[in-house]
Parts: sequence; C-alpha cells; structure tokens
Amino acid sequence: MSETPPQKRVVVVGAGWAGLGATYHLAQQGYDVTLLEASPYPGGLVAGWKTAGGRSVEGGIHGFWYPYHNIFSLVRELGLDPFTPFTRSSQYSPAGLEVESPIFQHEPRLPTPLGTFLYTRFQRLPLIDRLSALPLLYAIADFDNSHQAWQRYDKVTARELFKDFGVSARLYQESFEPMLLVGLFAPGEQCSAAATLGMLYYFILAHQPNFDVAWCRGTVAKMIFQPWVERIEEVGGKVLTNKRVDDLLLDDSGKAEGVVCGDEVFHADAVIFSVSVNAMKKIVSSSSSLRNYREFRDLRNLGAIDVLATRLWFDRKINIPLPSNACFGFDPEIGWTFFDLNALHDEYRHEPGSVIEADFYHASQLLPMSDEQIVEKVQRDLATCVPGFGEAKVIDSSVIRVSQGVTHFAPGSYQHRLPATTSIENLFMSGDWIINRHGSWSQEKAYVTGLEAANLVIERFGQGSKANIIPVEPDEPHIQAARNLNQTARELGNALLPDFWLP
Ligand SMILES: Cc1cc2nc3c(=O)[nH]c(=O)nc-3n(C[C@H](O)[C@H](O)[C@H](O)COP(=O)(O)OP(=O)(O)OC[C@H]3O[C@@H](n4cnc5c(N)ncnc54)[C@H](O)[C@@H]3O)c2cc1C
Repeated sequence: MSETPPQKRVVVVGAGWAGLGATYHLAQQGYDVTLLEASPYPGGLVAGWKTAGGRSVEGGIHGFWYPYHNIFSLVRELGLDPFTPFTRSSQYSPAGLEVESPIFQHEPRLPTPLGTFLYTRFQRLPLIDRLSALPLLYAIADFDNSHQAWQRYDKVTARELFKDFGVSARLYQESFEPMLLVGLFAPGEQCSAAATLGMLYYFILAHQPNFDVAWCRGTVAKMIFQPWVERIEEVGGKVLTNKRVDDLLLDDSGKAEGVVCGDEVFHADAVIFSVSVNAMKKIVSSSSSLRNYREFRDLRNLGAIDVLATRLWFDRKINIPLPSNACFGFDPEIGWTFFDLNALHDEYRHEPGSVIEADFYHASQLLPMSDEQIVEKVQRDLATCVPGFGEAKVIDSSVIRVSQGVTHFAPGSYQHRLPATTSIENLFMSGDWIINRHGSWSQEKAYVTGLEAANLVIERFGQGSKANIIPVEPDEPHIQAARNLNQTARELGNALLPDFWLP
C-alpha cells in the first residue's frame, strides 16, 4: 500500500500579484500554503478599499497591457470578466494636447516599430525629431534581456543612452522622458538604460499591439483580488491579513524553517518572499538571520520611489475626449496620468458628475502638501489639459500617499537585485523588482515571478505540476535576424580583440 507523502508547508510573505500567484498555484497543487500580509487588505500596490463615505478608492489606477498574457489567462480561468475593452489614450503638456494614440491592434499590422511610428498622432512634434529615434534601433536589437545585456547597459543612464544615440532634445523631453516617468516612475537621468530598453521594448516596441491597454471596470481589488482570494481559500490556501513578518528562522543546517510575525511563528518547509524592495530592506534590518547574508545586506543599495494617487468627484460632467491620459512638463521630474472613471468604471457610469483618478509618479515634493493643497493643484493641472475642469467644483476627494512604494530601477542597481533562488536553499524570491528572464514588467512580471517561485518549490519537493507560464511573444523575424547578426559580430569581436573595455 503506497502512503501519501506528508503535505509540505509553504509560507508566502506579501499578498500582491506575486504572493497571490505563488499561493494560488501551490494551494491548487496540494501544498499547505499560508500567505501572510502586513496590511488589512490583500492586493499590495493594487489594493483597494472604501472610504468612510462608502466611495471606492485604490492606490493608483492600474492598466493591463496587451502582452499581459498570464494575467489575462488567470482571469479567464477564474471565470471573471473584469476588463474594459482596450482604450485609446492621449498625452498633454501645459501647451495642450500633444499626442493621440489609436488602438494599435485595429490598424493594419506592420513590422515593428513602423506601426508605432506611423499610427501615433503627434500634434506638435516635428517629423525630424521623431526620425532622430532611428539610431536607437541598434540598442533595441542589442539589448536582449540577457545577463550580459543588463551588464552592458545597466550602469548607463537613460539620458546618456538617448544622447549617445542622437535622439533630439524635443523627442527626449516630449516623448521618451514622459514615458520613463510613467513606465519606470523616474526621470531619464535616474533610470538604468537597461531597464529603459527592457521596458520600452515590452510595452511599446516588440509588437504593434503591445501599447494597447485595458482597465478594470471597478477597483482591481473588487474585480479580481476579492474573487481570487475566495478561490484560493476554496482550494485550501490560507490568506491572513494584518500579519507583518519581521524575521526568518533558520535551522542548524541553514535552511529556512519558518517566519516570525510579532510573537507568532509560522513553520514552513519552504518560504517565498513576495514583498517590495523597500519592505524587504526593512525585513533584513529587523532579521537576526538575513542580516548575516551579503546578498540581503546588499539590498540596502536599492531604492524606491514616492507616488501619489488622487480621486476627485466633481459637481458636474466635464467632457473629457479620451478616458486615459498621460501628462508631462507640469512640474520638474514628475509625470502624471488622469482617467475618466465615468467611462471606465461601471460604478460611475451614471454618476451626475465627473469622477477622475489623477496619479503622480516620482512625486516626492508633493507628498508634504496638505490634502487641500493637493486637490487644488490637481484641479489646476486638469484644467490646463481640459479647460472644463476650471469651472467645476470638487465635492469629494481622496488622497493616497504611496511613500517609497515602487521599485527604482536606478543606474547600477542590477548588481544588487536578487534572482528567485537565494543562498538559503528553500527560500525563494518573487516580486516586480527581482531578476528574471521572462521579459515582462510591472503587474504581469510580479505575477509571473510568483508562478516561477511556486515552480521552484515544486521542483524542490517533486510534488504537484508546475504552473504553465506563457512566454512573451517571440521577437519578430527582422528583429530576430538583427539580434543574430549583432550576436555574431559580438562573438567575432570577443574572439579577435583583447577583453579590457568596460562592459
Ligand atoms: C500608482 C501606481 C500605478 C501603477 N500603475 C501600473 C499599471 O498601470 N500597470 C501595471 O502593470 N503596474 C502598475 N504599477 C505597478 C504595480 O502596482 C506593481 O508592479 C505590482 O503591483 C507589484 O506587485 P508585487 O506583488 O511585486 O508587490 P506589492 O504589490 O508591493 O505587494 C507586496 C505586498 O507585501 C506586503 N508586505 C510588505 N512587507 C511585509 C511584511 N513584512 N510582512 C507581510 N507582508 C508584507 C505589502 O503590504 C504588499 O501587500 C503601478 C504602481 C503604482 C504605485
């Protein structure tokens, strides 16, 4: 008679996309999984809740881009229908409307990046400035997301990269830097060129439809996380909130045997950390075990960025041309976006007045302002883009300060980031900031790293089936050919020339 092997216990720390992804898969595979979350709600940066007045808010609105195949597949499997159709977007500066983007998948498909170049409707930027991006195609082909490519580009700033490749001042200031402020949450001189190339390729350049984005028809918390957590509990996973982990317990052989959470201990055969960079730094500082490992101490070299999420309810409907809008040039080093929630969220479709989400990235200098000052500023900036906001009255508002919330992909930070495996053999890492080779970013990356960590647990114990992770769509044939040619030239150069240059 064969005995069933004892159920392995796994503790997952942090209930964002990464932690929920790992927990769900392992619970489905029969593991005894406990997910510990410090805050009162699951969801991490995407958590949402109701204000005292009963209004739905969240820590910033979140878009789901066309290549988020793993998230779209999860949502289908859960039987949910949370998304709007893909939406068009515009970009504003203090001078007014700058750019309108079509829904790229509705246009005839052209080899990348031709579609992005031809179908995007620039209102002011001259053709000569747009053409100055062409030499950058070499760097796009050269950066293939490998370890070697990260080493070549990570210590260079995005600004230097664009300057070296001859990008015009206007194209940089009016197009690339605004994209960095909303994509990597930092201005060009503070972004790693490697992260810049990886992010731009994934969201914009790899394939014509990649820039298309959909939104949840309510908070992500209500539309996805709530039913997902219920499903996790149905398959046996435990999701415990208000549990802040502050130490990792090691046995005599140096293996993780559990985590400490105040005066409680949660025992485990494997542990997965799924917290942000900043939270991980705090855990290392309070941990008597992790501080003995250089790889964890090195995390103190990593940084995070301040973000501000506001939601404003107006006394009347304002005509907003497109539902999703990005803005630049209003404050030095700050990027911001605003969204017409009457068009996106079911809950506000019939609201008598406009409901607007306005989120500010790299917003350190705004955080000390009072809520009233912030709301006044937001209304002023909105009125610069769409004058109708000037006459309307704000009847309610929510201001959420996300201090040190998002990862800073700073120049030189790659060397300090961690991969999924650590020198503690049964401790695994996940989250949008860790090093992996999938090629995705943001929410999709966080979810994928959660699945990857779950797969490492399955590999270790040999119990259950690995999660099927959908790879990013392969490079288009001409990009593949350019990459192969470039790789051959590199190998030839390496064989013939001495290796004494900086990477
Ligand atoms: C304003 C804003 C807008 C954004 N817009 C987009 C967008 O449009 N599209 C997109 O794809 N991405 C967007 N992002 C990025 C996206 O939110 C993140 O990439 C993603 O949510 C990261 O998920 P995660 O699981 O890695 O980490 P997190 O969401 O940070 O989750 C980590 C969890 O760990 C918990 N935790 C921390 N410390 C402990 C501890 N000691 N013990 C227990 N639990 C702990 C935290 O409370 C948190 O719940 C945006 C982010 C912000 C802030």
